[in-house]
Amino acid sequence: DLRDLVDTQVQRWVRTDIQKLAAYPVPDATGLIKLDAMENPYTWPDALRHEWADWLGRTDVNRYPHPDAPKVKAGLREVMNIGEEWDILLGNGSDELIQLIAMALAGTGRTILAPEPSFVMYRMIAQYLDMDYVGVPLTANFELDLETMLAKIEREQPALVFLAQPNNPTGNLWGDEKLRRIIEAAPGLVVLDEAYTAFTQADYLGWLEDYPNLLIMRTLSKVGLAGLRLGILIGHPSWIEQVNKLRLPYNINSLTQLTATFALEHFEVFEQQTRELVTLRSDLYQALKALPGLTVFESEANFLLVRTEPGQAPVIHQALKDAGILIKKLDGAHPLLADCLRINVSSPEENSALVQALQGILG
Ligand code: PMP
Repeated sequence: DLRDLVDTQVQRWVRTDIQKLAAYPVPDATGLIKLDAMENPYTWPDALRHEWADWLGRTDVNRYPHPDAPKVKAGLREVMNIGEEWDILLGNGSDELIQLIAMALAGTGRTILAPEPSFVMYRMIAQYLDMDYVGVPLTANFELDLETMLAKIEREQPALVFLAQPNNPTGNLWGDEKLRRIIEAAPGLVVLDEAYTAFTQADYLGWLEDYPNLLIMRTLSKVGLAGLRLGILIGHPSWIEQVNKLRLPYNINSLTQLTATFALEHFEVFEQQTRELVTLRSDLYQALKALPGLTVFESEANFLLVRTEPGQAPVIHQALKDAGILIKKLDGAHPLLADCLRINVSSPEENSALVQALQGILG
């Protein structure tokens, strides 16, 4: 009956909208080929691993980490060609950055707007902060509906707009002209989320010159460092200064700082793996397209969105799981994603395992 007393307390004091939320679900992938989370399938070459272990072995963790991670930022400036005119804010993943930006702009009647379907954390963080959220549906083939976007921006006057380019989970780009029109129409801050920048030619960093209401967000997760949790926010010092006030001290731990610094010094390894994954993306696209009963969407990211025959997505998802392969079920996440599944591009071996399993399932 302590349980009952606790539940009574919880019900009384935890915000009712929080009580209704579900925590972000992460399925158990033990023993499965993991094609659900846009990770890079490749680990490090042995030589690199040993050198890294050596660095780690000479690192002390009795002290707090450097509060500003200057070595990581210097490495990022070099690798991503970030000019000195812009400041950088690091987050424990870009998830944390989304939260910090939203916190800086949150308040009564403040709205976050984003096209939908897109990355779910934009909506979830709006909910955490009790902000209004407006999702503007993409067209049926996942293009940006510019007229509706502009009308909604005009009506809702959002404090914050998120544009993921390439978009997750659709994998596409929406076109520079449309993006510019939105940034120009937005009264508040626009964040261009370039989580998948490594897999596309598109690069919006230079646009910071053009707009006073733009920030660029990136991450090291998708290129092969998902375990580090390192998100990168780039923009004018005045914006970064304000968002930085909300960052908890020491949010980038010593091991992440050390490993990121090391990895950025050897970034050609990740660039090569990334280039290979872009080639493998075309191969997988063709292989999936050749299967009966699947529509495959073109992608500029390290995953492919597919649509099954009506009602088949959960069946195929489960059959793949039974065959030892985990992909992402999107059916039910958004009306536009009916019968959709998302599949990570992986190594040749894992891609063929997937295609073979699908051949068996689809007949
Ligand atoms: N933005 C987009 C568009 C994403 O797809 C993801 C990862 N799913 C993130 C941000 C978050 O990445 P991380 O927190 O690993 O940096």
